[in-house]
Amino acid sequence: MSKRKKRRIKNPLRFAVGVALIVLIVLLLAFLIAAVSGCFRSAPAPSSEATAAPTAASTPVQTPSLMPSPSPTPEPSWEERRLIEIEHYVRAYGNCPDEAAVEARMATMAIDPDSKMVAFTFDDGPRDRITDYVLDVCEQYGVRATFFINGENIDAHEEQLMRMLSLGCEIGNHTWEHTNVEELSAEEMRREIGSVNEAVFNRFGYTIHLFRPPYIKYGGKGSETRNTLIALMNEWDMAVVNHTRSTHDTYDSYTAEKIYRRGVAETDESNKPLSGAIVLCHDKAKKTAEAFGKIVPELLSRGYQLVTVSELLHYSDDGFHAGWIYSSAN
Ligand SMILES: [Zn+2]
Repeated sequence: MSKRKKRRIKNPLRFAVGVALIVLIVLLLAFLIAAVSGCFRSAPAPSSEATAAPTAASTPVQTPSLMPSPSPTPEPSWEERRLIEIEHYVRAYGNCPDEAAVEARMATMAIDPDSKMVAFTFDDGPRDRITDYVLDVCEQYGVRATFFINGENIDAHEEQLMRMLSLGCEIGNHTWEHTNVEELSAEEMRREIGSVNEAVFNRFGYTIHLFRPPYIKYGGKGSETRNTLIALMNEWDMAVVNHTRSTHDTYDSYTAEKIYRRGVAETDESNKPLSGAIVLCHDKAKKTAEAFGKIVPELLSRGYQLVTVSELLHYSDDGFHAGWIYSSAN
């Protein structure tokens, strides 16, 4: 042992050269082996094969129980879908200068399911000035209404329709030309109602879910007219909506004051409550718009929420059902 130790100490240079040579030979051998086994082949150019999904042969086999189960994305609820849709239109048509304005508008869309609700509806529009005024009131107080429109008014009133959507208001169908559907064949009825849905969807991407028959005429129970209408409603995921209270705003003798009194009375002549009511108005007379401007602050002060018909139906005991005819949402 001591002899070998002495030798290493005596010839350090020779020892280091020897070690270096051995290392060099080992590295050379390793390189040759690797080259022969293909490790140094250049990487292939990207191709469809390179990006293809791994084949079964190259994928480690896993038993199903060990596979991570993908967490299912829950379907958005009606409430979530409603807010998503409204926010879309707030951003698209709401002229909001910044995020704060979007948030402020969206804050007015909140609904308390346990508080009183009433749905004001305006038929036969949109019209210049009158519809604008009704929408001004909605915007000023952060409330919503439903507009049962005639298709023939769409072209000239796109601005009003966009504003309705940006305020969370609802657009309903009142036929293309304000036609009594009892006088139509099945094909004519499909055209008269379907054309409104189509025009609104094509322009704004908005799907109409409510139909109010002009003159509240849609055939008696079991009649061909009613059966045809119900079949169309089912096909288009729509419901027929009457009213539970009329403001009588089309009567010549009804002034803004009289319309206001009917709009805010806690019960009507049939003793039906205002809470849960669907109130009929028309956005075609100045007196109606004036009355609505007084009705809204009065009802807000009494704790009412002014909502759309779909919102009212959704929170009612019955809920919304395609093919149903609603005369009341109490
Ligand atoms: Zn009408």
